[in-house]
Amino acid sequence: MTVDEAAILAVLDKVPDPEIPVLSITDLGIVRGVAEDPPRVLVTPTYTGCPATIAIEASIREALDKAGFDAVGIERVIFPPWTTDWISERGRQRLKAYGIAPPDPSATAECPQCGSTDTEEISRFGATPCKAQWRCKACLEPFDRFKCH
Ligand SMILES: [Zn+2]
Repeated sequence: MTVDEAAILAVLDKVPDPEIPVLSITDLGIVRGVAEDPPRVLVTPTYTGCPATIAIEASIREALDKAGFDAVGIERVIFPPWTTDWISERGRQRLKAYGIAPPDPSATAECPQCGSTDTEEISRFGATPCKAQWRCKACLEPFDRFKCH
């Protein structure tokens, strides 16, 4: 069978990330592409041990089945490992609008509420293991920040 990559990617573009529903899994950058023989979607987990991985794969399976791509499999690709650099520009904008500081290799995070960079990390572990908890010293609001890895 021929694999309609564009159609499959359009389906995946509507699959939300289970932890941050404003992001689709393509915004997150974990969809590496579509391969043939046998037809399959290549997916890289955000990081080993992230509990969302199983949920993401289940959502992909469901979306593919609903769109008639039940013959298309899912292959987990762990190399090269996912990095926050793979989050798309649209994904970064959506994260910020949602109140999560987009990942940035610099030591300071920009407060999604007021834009101040006078911020501090208060915990390595935020709402989920993939995020750290930060606080803005200007507006005193806490916020989550995607961890870089
Ligand atoms: Zn602030």
